[in-house]
Amino acid sequence: MQKVDLLIRHALVVTQDDQRRILEDGAIAVEGPHIAAVGSTAELDAQCIADRTVDANGRALFPGLLNIHTHLFQSAVKGLGEDMPVEQWVQAVTFPTARAINAEEAYLLSLVSCLENLRSGATTVMDFMYSLDNPALHEAVIQAMLDSGLRGRYTRTVVDSGEEMGIPGVMRQRAEDALAHARALQARFHGAGDGRLDIGLAIGVIWAITEPGLRAVRRCADETGMTITMHVNETPFDNVAAQQRWGRATIPMLAESGVLGPDFIAVHCVHMTEEDVALFVRHNVAVAYNPVSNMYLGSGIAPIVQLAGRGLRIGLATDGSGSNNCQDMLETLKFGALLQKVGRQDPSCVLAQQALDWATRGGAEAMGLADQVGSLAPGKKADFFLVNPFTPKATPVHDPVTTLVYSAGQPNVEMVVVNGRVLMENGVFTHLDETKVLRDAQRAAQHLARRAGTERLLERRGKWRPLE
Ligand SMILES: [Zn+2]
Repeated sequence: MQKVDLLIRHALVVTQDDQRRILEDGAIAVEGPHIAAVGSTAELDAQCIADRTVDANGRALFPGLLNIHTHLFQSAVKGLGEDMPVEQWVQAVTFPTARAINAEEAYLLSLVSCLENLRSGATTVMDFMYSLDNPALHEAVIQAMLDSGLRGRYTRTVVDSGEEMGIPGVMRQRAEDALAHARALQARFHGAGDGRLDIGLAIGVIWAITEPGLRAVRRCADETGMTITMHVNETPFDNVAAQQRWGRATIPMLAESGVLGPDFIAVHCVHMTEEDVALFVRHNVAVAYNPVSNMYLGSGIAPIVQLAGRGLRIGLATDGSGSNNCQDMLETLKFGALLQKVGRQDPSCVLAQQALDWATRGGAEAMGLADQVGSLAPGKKADFFLVNPFTPKATPVHDPVTTLVYSAGQPNVEMVVVNGRVLMENGVFTHLDETKVLRDAQRAAQHLARRAGTERLLERRGKWRPLE
């Protein structure tokens, strides 16, 4: 008999393994941060002695989702930035907020984003923090990720130009300085939180990086093993700006600088030519698909079905709450599938199983974490969530994958386990006081909006009464 910490029995286990097996009366055993066994309830009953046993009573159990692109601090501007194109939105909403935010606010607002990720089944998050020159802000976001209990990668952005595009001085540094800070963060935080956290590199956008900056990021990635992520061709403006600077479009320029590679996660990729796609295939780049953000900013429909058909790794993402108004990965699953159907006028181009694959295995492959997360198998990290479908929105249930993608919402997520630790049970966080966090974050966001001047975006709308 094998001794384990936790045994969950009588679950409908959606393994997301290579055969996409679904175990009807399934069970999962957890020992430390790892999955010890996955099988039928009868098999695991015979095999394991558990410190704690949970009867799932037929609820569905899924591997944790991966949200491979967000800006956690942006819950600060939830509800402030609708109805603007991205270039106007960054100037009016996110840049003033990033310039004014303090460490305490960054912590609280990032923590809110983390909690919503967990509530929607996302157990791994890749954060893309702005390139602010105050180290305390970076550490505040990292601390929020650690305290939330989720698994994550914190990426340190390099922005070494873009003054003429309105990028504030506090968000621009020499590439060497930003990369030195990234290395320091890696030395300090890689493996923190019992191995839950690691550090990566990010490049803001093509119009805020120099060619030496691109080359320096690639060198640093090669030397440290950190991955690189970057907003790429979210709108046609990227190509316009790249043509003006270098006389070539964004992706050909990235290829020429040597920055593309299997460790490069390109975010958005809405406006893609055939040449762009071919370069991504040649360099085996991974893609982060942000359907809700792309709709919110009116950016367009990323050709994800085409990119996936060419063999590229695809992960799903919410983007920051500034261009989404939430961090709901269940909503993202649904919109991710539906938006492709609209774009191609083909209802069969993305099946529910495909959307779930992107949010689990695809995201894990994109982040280079496929040996750890993205499916349920012995030896992998114990990251999963339990879904009770018995709400009017999700009932009746026939196929658990279809239910998760199209009918489930946050109230259906009852239990969340990350790294073997039960973070939420019966819909309640066990490790922190959620009500207090939300109230503190509300107060912080209102103070911040006043200082940042974003409060005036509400002038012609109703304003929420401040909390005392
Ligand atoms: Zn983004």
